[in-house]
Amino acid sequence: YKAKHTPGGILSYSANLDEGSPRRLAIMAAINSGLKQDQFFLHYQPKMDLKTGHVTAAEALIRWQHPEMGLISPGEFIPLAEMSDIIIDLTEWVLDQAIYQLKKFQLSQKDVRLSVNVSTRNLLDDNLVPYIHAKLEEYDVRPQQLELEITESALMVDPDRALETLNKLSGLGLSISVDDFGTGYSSLVYLRRLPIDSLKIDLMFVRNMCRNDQDAIIVNSIINLGHNLSLTVVAEGAEDKATVEVLKTMGCDYVQGYQISKPVPEDEFLRLLDE
Ligand code: C2E
Ligand code: MG
Ligand code: MG
Ligand code: MG
Repeated sequence: YKAKHTPGGILSYSANLDEGSPRRLAIMAAINSGLKQDQFFLHYQPKMDLKTGHVTAAEALIRWQHPEMGLISPGEFIPLAEMSDIIIDLTEWVLDQAIYQLKKFQLSQKDVRLSVNVSTRNLLDDNLVPYIHAKLEEYDVRPQQLELEITESALMVDPDRALETLNKLSGLGLSISVDDFGTGYSSLVYLRRLPIDSLKIDLMFVRNMCRNDQDAIIVNSIINLGHNLSLTVVAEGAEDKATVEVLKTMGCDYVQGYQISKPVPEDEFLRLLDE
């Protein structure tokens, strides 16, 4: 059964998968051709500066329109891609697109920064730093315009290796943000050693903070922690006006979430910028 449904290369890690998951196998097998056939695209989710109310940055989020399976969410295919080196190709594709987009912002005199999500395997890839360096040169984009979002848990897989890579990336002039902060049990002692610029509070704490005192306390504590470590603090997952207001009162620096905007295509993002 498996052999019938799995092209070469997939069987080597199929042991990690449920028996009854032909969809997952199909998705893994389709990523490579999806890249070759241009089935991926990016959406941009704005980040608003809470001091000025202006959108000054966005997170690039990958999307996949498969000809038969339809729109597949990154929440489904990224974890599968992360099981093999295909995540390296996906991340390089996203970086190329995002840096090219930064070039377009630059040409139209828009001062916008973009962030790209990177996975554990990318941090262990010796080619990541040279790749980013080469793309910044190719498109003539300042490294200061690009930020990488790395989850707290990805940083903990191989802390020494992560530190080495992050030092090189920050040496290039990129910013580093710790994504989904608060969910990864990272040691603060270790975190302090890393050349990071910002903390991104996980949406699980932000989403209900106006209805749950515990969540509000956690969010407020992370904001204070970040500021005490001289880091910028971003809240993700603000879904209503009240949450944005409370975050502002708490001194949070940036906010991202459905209240500001969902992730949107390039043209819609450009319209948001002009508003
Ligand atoms: P993430 O990096 O933590 O991204 C935030 C996710 O929360 C996005 O889902 C975004 O659409 C969603 N979100 C934003 N605001 C709100 C809100 O107010 N309420 C709620 N309920 N959700 C909100 P998305 O785009 O489906 O991405 C899911 C995850 O997939 C991302 O989590 C990230 O881990 C991964 N991902 C997405 N694009 C890429 C990529 O290019 N590379 C890698 N390695 N991972 C990616
Ligand atoms: Mg992210
Ligand atoms: Mg996140
Ligand atoms: Mg997340």
